[in-house]
Amino acid sequence: MKAFLIAIGNLFKRPATIQYPFAPTYKPDDYRGLIQHNPELCIWCRRCEMACPPGAIVFSQAMDGTQTYHYNRAVCIYCGECVRNCPKPGAIIQTATPASPALKDENINNSWAETVKQALESRAAYMAEKKKQAAAKQQGGENPA
Ligand code: SF4
Ligand code: SF4
Repeated sequence: MKAFLIAIGNLFKRPATIQYPFAPTYKPDDYRGLIQHNPELCIWCRRCEMACPPGAIVFSQAMDGTQTYHYNRAVCIYCGECVRNCPKPGAIIQTATPASPALKDENINNSWAETVKQALESRAAYMAEKKKQAAAKQQGGENPA
């Protein structure tokens, strides 16, 4: 009898579920969402990259020394460590924007691994060139023409 009354009562209650994605889910005020980089304020120290536990940030470097920020929202765990470790306020912020589902070409195993590999190679190439130039400069100083 008790179960029957509960069942009847439930007929007049609002559903416990929501019609996501048509109805948005509850989001607390301190929700930790997508990371946003501001190149205008960035001093390119790469501390955010070093602090990131899963490796969701990587910087590539061109031969003229300029760096480019890369971020993978599918790898990010939204911990905020990059923001906490950034010495320049506003250079990297955590927004309240939830991440949308990752697209196929953004997953960890394919394009992101390749992006990281290329970024590290670009930095190694830049450093090698810098060393070569420094050695040539030093040699020129020792043997002035
Ligand atoms: S929030 Fe955490 S996981 Fe995401 S980029 Fe920043 S440090 Fe990496
Ligand atoms: S830690 Fe901040 S200033 Fe340094 S590279 Fe990252 S965003 Fe730029």
